[in-house]
Amino acid sequence: MSQPSVPFPQSPVVPNMVDGAHVIQFQCHKGIGCWNACCSNIDISLTPYDLLRLQKRLGLSSAEFLTKYTFPYELDKDDIAGVKFRPVEGGSACQFMTPEGCGVYEDRPTACRYYPVALVSMRKEGEAFDSASYALVKEDHCKGHEVARSLTIDDYRKEQGVVEYDELARGWRQLILKKKSTGPAIGKPSLKSRQLFFMACYNLDQFRAFVTSDSFCQLFALPPEEHAKIAGDDIELMLFGFRFLRQVLFGEESIPLNDDAAKARAEKVREKRMQEEREAAARMAAAADNDHPLDDED
Ligand code: SF4
Ligand code: SF4
Repeated sequence: MSQPSVPFPQSPVVPNMVDGAHVIQFQCHKGIGCWNACCSNIDISLTPYDLLRLQKRLGLSSAEFLTKYTFPYELDKDDIAGVKFRPVEGGSACQFMTPEGCGVYEDRPTACRYYPVALVSMRKEGEAFDSASYALVKEDHCKGHEVARSLTIDDYRKEQGVVEYDELARGWRQLILKKKSTGPAIGKPSLKSRQLFFMACYNLDQFRAFVTSDSFCQLFALPPEEHAKIAGDDIELMLFGFRFLRQVLFGEESIPLNDDAAKARAEKVREKRMQEEREAAARMAAAADNDHPLDDED
């Protein structure tokens, strides 16, 4: 089961973008000849909400779940990390596949719910929000396309319970889309920013420890009720993480700073800018010397 982001020639992704009103013919059911074929060879990217649902179901900490069931990959060329399912040791099947089907069906991830539809989030130039289009994935082994049942993609999304999953991963998708669309303008995020991205998106227990730490409370001016809400509720914490990362990655003032911290931060930014200007001036002077290497000998 694959989760393509764009359709490629010769891939099983039908190269037409369609909207939610598009009618598909599909049904997967136990007893079908290809039962479990899709779960035997996986390439599944996970959203932060997918991770949260699965780790809660299994009663694992986020670090335990990450280690046992996932591996990181590069979501974009600037080393922003994504997370994929780790298949069974030495094989390509999902660790949750059982002869009866999915062993975590009620909490299966977004890509599994969508299949054979692929969500393609896009953000057009000049638009503040992303819009969703869909592509159909037609793999030869999947007999579900031969079952005579027709429904719209919107109805299929409701049937598969994917609407909630999309809503709760929206902030994460917007971060990635914004990062991709403004990439050259903001440059490669620092190692610290990339680590914060990973922690806030995928390692929620560690992120909770971070937002309840003294240093966080000294830096950010969050009302006590709001602080208690994000510290005590996984979903609120995850959504807060997306907001926090807009500040980390794009410098948006999405979370207010304490006065002293704001002054210190402004001073640090000013120092950094002055340092960059000094370095740029030194580079220009060196380049001018190189352009006229014999001037001193005249
Ligand atoms: S989570 Fe379930 S549906 Fe998804 S690949 Fe694994 S076994 Fe299949
Ligand atoms: S019909 Fe398609 S989705 Fe269902 S088990 Fe077969 S390959 Fe998987």
